[in-house]
Amino acid sequence: MGQRTEVFDIGRLGLSSGEGRRLELEVPVADFDFGGQRYRVPGGSVNATLDVAHTTSGYSLRLRFEAALEGPCMRCLDDAGQPVAVDAREVDQPGGGEELASPYLEDDELDLGAWARDALALALPTQIVCSDECLGLCSVCGENLNRAGADHAHEPEPDARWAPLRELRLE
Ligand SMILES: [Zn+2]
Ligand SMILES: [Zn+2]
Repeated sequence: MGQRTEVFDIGRLGLSSGEGRRLELEVPVADFDFGGQRYRVPGGSVNATLDVAHTTSGYSLRLRFEAALEGPCMRCLDDAGQPVAVDAREVDQPGGGEELASPYLEDDELDLGAWARDALALALPTQIVCSDECLGLCSVCGENLNRAGADHAHEPEPDARWAPLRELRLE
């Protein structure tokens, strides 16, 4: 595995037009908040594959990595360990206008840390869960329903028709 790389100088690859290179890099990813919970990637970094291709007038870039997020399941609060796969692309073409300038590339310096963080945020599911089948917490007692078993239940609310009788005091 390559060394931990926050900013990568793609100019030093010395690629000429039409050439490409694949690199394995360790990219730091800071902890982040999502849905009111705190998440992190194990070790604070991901092992990423970076593809750099020198096009006729710029660069075409692809960043891929997988991360098992450390943080709570949004339903049951157990550790979720949800795997997230990231596959992001960027094109940078000087003179091609605003749309073709990558915000992560400046003077051949690729801000891998920022790109990885944003790409991960875009790849997140709407809800981070321990499993799609997670039953969450009991709305009455807060018990984890994944562990409580299928027969977990509470006495139904007392029948309202008996309420007057409970008010009755026999003294
Ligand atoms: Zn869960
Ligand atoms: Zn309960």
